[in-house]
Amino acid sequence: MDSKVAKNWIGGEWVEGASNVAVRSPADPSEVVGHYQEASADLVAQAVAAARTAQKAWWRLGAVNRGNLLYQAAEVLAGQVEDLARLASREMGKPLAEARGEALRAVQILRFYAGEGARAVGEVIPAANPDVFQYTRREPVGVVGVITPWNFPLAIPMWKMAPALIYGNTVVLKPAEWSSLTAAAIFEAIASLFPSGVMNLVLGAGRVVGDALIRAPEVDAVTFTGSVATGAQVASVCAARGAKYQLEMGGKNPVLVLPDANLDAAVELAVSGAFRSAGQKCTATSRVIVERSVYAAFRDRLVARTRELKLGNPLEPETYLGPVVSEPQWQKVRHYIETGMAEAGAPLVGGLEKPASLAGYYVAPTIFDRVSPTATIAQEEIFGPVVALMEAEDVDDAIDIANRTPFGLSASVFTDNLSLALKAVEELQAGLVRVNEETAGVELQAPFGGMKASSSHSREQGRAAIEFFTTTKTVALRPIR
Ligand code: ADP
Repeated sequence: MDSKVAKNWIGGEWVEGASNVAVRSPADPSEVVGHYQEASADLVAQAVAAARTAQKAWWRLGAVNRGNLLYQAAEVLAGQVEDLARLASREMGKPLAEARGEALRAVQILRFYAGEGARAVGEVIPAANPDVFQYTRREPVGVVGVITPWNFPLAIPMWKMAPALIYGNTVVLKPAEWSSLTAAAIFEAIASLFPSGVMNLVLGAGRVVGDALIRAPEVDAVTFTGSVATGAQVASVCAARGAKYQLEMGGKNPVLVLPDANLDAAVELAVSGAFRSAGQKCTATSRVIVERSVYAAFRDRLVARTRELKLGNPLEPETYLGPVVSEPQWQKVRHYIETGMAEAGAPLVGGLEKPASLAGYYVAPTIFDRVSPTATIAQEEIFGPVVALMEAEDVDDAIDIANRTPFGLSASVFTDNLSLALKAVEELQAGLVRVNEETAGVELQAPFGGMKASSSHSREQGRAAIEFFTTTKTVALRPIR
């Protein structure tokens, strides 16, 4: 298949959709990167049926054999890192170096879960009757609907599909519209290595194609990453029909800077967390809370460093941040900057202006000073390169401010004081707490997920993924003598 006309992969074949949609470069919307064929509700039903038909044989193949196929897929993908990275960068605008890192991560995720196929699962548990052999088995949930966003177009589909597959599930992926070409390129690379129907891809808008997928009676579980509003919709539809669901949603991730912090490291990692990928990570730094005694010194360095960042074409090596993904996202981020100006005055750096030479959806890295913890820009997820700087009286105040949002995904604290670090680890309401590390950049072999409105119950990634993608069967085996 020409990856520039992305189609739907259903039951082991490329299938045309109901309409052809142009994908434009966010760096220059006059450039058409490719087209995708949008699926109909009917095609979604076909994909789910193909996944259902294939599931039992896929499970019966055995985890070791499934792992071997995942290893093969990893090696094929490893040979295409550069092409995948370039396509992702052109399609959704992240700098090429970051896209390359993400493509490599997709390979590593496949390798990690390939290895899971040969590792022990389940437990042997003593029974009251010593003759009884009591143990647990992990069985697949069945058909998994995978709904993904555009911000990690390679890694997120992989960190959901790879564990689903290794534990014996079949999948139907519905990627975000803004990452359809990249998703199709992943399928073009690896899907035909798997038996027909094991991996399926349906392309198109969330409210049509995504909605049909979450409502399909034969979809046993839905794993979703995206906005809080859509997550709530996924949860209610799945709960109503008794399907399992897993949600990864927003963040309003704080960096806390305490007086004994290494300010240079704190500045560099706050900048990286806030502005790489133009702030479009669910783990991006969006609030920086600094204790009073170092506030001015930290702020000056943060602003000076931010002024050095190169905003530009994502394919150019010196670019630190590219455009945001789309026109609607651009309008949304600009609206938050206007709100920030009303709430906190002119930003210290950045704002609504962008260099005239940049035609696309660019937003300059923007920092607002002395933002109130209750301000809109300190409470709502912006998903763009915008930081709210806040002053705290002491560590308790800093932790209190950090916890005062509906979200709880990632939080960083910068300090050299072990006691303060451990206090922050204990008191910060976040699924990921990072000491002298940026809020983003979590490792693939460790559990990933948040507290409060950021996530639903189960964690993704690492071995933790087994909780969502399997169900436990407890077996008691008694010989009658
Ligand atoms: P974002 O703000 O990151 O684009 P969304 O929640 O809108 O977040 O999108 C995340 C994913 O959810 C995308 O694949 C999108 O197409 C899909 N989606 C959007 N609306 C729905 C819906 N009503 N039902 C199912 N999936 C949806």
